[in-house]
Amino acid sequence: MEFSDLGLAADLLRAVADQGYTEPTPIQQQAIPAVLAGNDVFASAQTGTGKTAGFTLPMLQLLSATPPHKVQRTPRALILTPTRELAAQIGDSVKTYGKHLPLRSAVVYGGVGIVPQIQALRRGVDIVIATPGRLLDHLGQRTLDLSQIEILVLDECDRMLDMGFIHDIRKVLAALPKSRQTLMFSATFSKVIQQLANTLLKNPTLIEVAARNTAAERVEQVVHLVDRDRKRELLAYMISFHNWQQVLVFTRTKHGANRLAEQLSQDGLRAAAIHGNKTQAARTRALNDFKLGKVRVLVATDVASRGIDIDQLPHVVNFELPHVPEDYVHRIGRTGRAGCGGKAVSLVCGEESPLLKGIELLLNQTLAKIVVPGYEPKSSAPAEPEKRQRSNQGRGGQGTKSNSQSAPKPQSSKPQDPPTRSKKPVSASRARKRLRSA
Ligand code: AMP
Repeated sequence: MEFSDLGLAADLLRAVADQGYTEPTPIQQQAIPAVLAGNDVFASAQTGTGKTAGFTLPMLQLLSATPPHKVQRTPRALILTPTRELAAQIGDSVKTYGKHLPLRSAVVYGGVGIVPQIQALRRGVDIVIATPGRLLDHLGQRTLDLSQIEILVLDECDRMLDMGFIHDIRKVLAALPKSRQTLMFSATFSKVIQQLANTLLKNPTLIEVAARNTAAERVEQVVHLVDRDRKRELLAYMISFHNWQQVLVFTRTKHGANRLAEQLSQDGLRAAAIHGNKTQAARTRALNDFKLGKVRVLVATDVASRGIDIDQLPHVVNFELPHVPEDYVHRIGRTGRAGCGGKAVSLVCGEESPLLKGIELLLNQTLAKIVVPGYEPKSSAPAEPEKRQRSNQGRGGQGTKSNSQSAPKPQSSKPQDPPTRSKKPVSASRARKRLRSA
């Protein structure tokens, strides 16, 4: 099936093609026609299934079919989501998929100043993407009018309920018109979720797509502890030693991506950088060269990596850990796709220890740590327990095997601990809470 079979308008098909998507995912195949037909939807779909485009594309089409509200341009669609990271990500997707349409959107979440959000809302928007708490703040201050909402999306419902948002959600619902289209997405269909669906949805189209293994389960992960100023050297060494032919490397900044690509090129490795400052044409060219094997190392920032979808990408390297733990999951999810094994290597210096801890809390998994001989960190090593090599058998199940394969003659500083027990991943907020109290 192709995107053009789903009834999407040309402007949206163009935006999808710009992203390099060739065919719709199962959730998109089912959700897009249902939403376009005006139906309510109750979908069980996890992150990674392409659900965001599944609701965003048809929503944009429905909204663009009618003109915006004349007086004050009040919002016509509301997307509620549990975390600010998700809100920001969905906000980006709305912009990406709607880039050829004259629709306006605003992202509204807590922890940042409310004034810029008020100003954006005052200028008038068609779509609001929000976390429940801050949305209620806006309602309380009368800086947002939800009386004209035509489409409501509740994303990651189970997580919103887990995080105790049910009362907030009910308050938001009370501010919405009764007559509207409602789309509910949830990774699980628990009793509580079903009850909520019963009260909110009219004749919903039910969609269930097979759960994918999480990236953390699919991908073999390893951490190499190394000093910051030796990371580039270690990376070049590993690429050459293991003869990696296609490596996606993540840096935190655009500047860092450029510099690293230049340095690797000087080391004799064909490398290119892609990030937000590059033109779309330059990004597409670099990505194509990478796919064709003309470029061996592609250095990317998180934002630029969004559209990168290479089915058999074997290696992802975190040259620097991301500030947001969810970005780590997104990064490693670039590999290990389409049933192929993938490997994610993180080069971690002492200062990044708290970031590593945050990632491990989110994954509920201790990552294997290996010091590559000749690259032992001189600076203050991360505090226990990170200093110790541990098995990552908890979820990935590749503990000792991965250790012995991931680097030449790996050396652990201490004997290996027993494998950690497999547990369900914790929610991001819970992970952060634990991190704060740690
Ligand atoms: P989501 O489940 O919405 O978080 O999407 C997961 C990832 O899949 C995102 O990085 C999207 O850019 C990507 N994606 C969404 N739809 C497609 C598609 N049809 N083909 C390839 N990648 C996609």
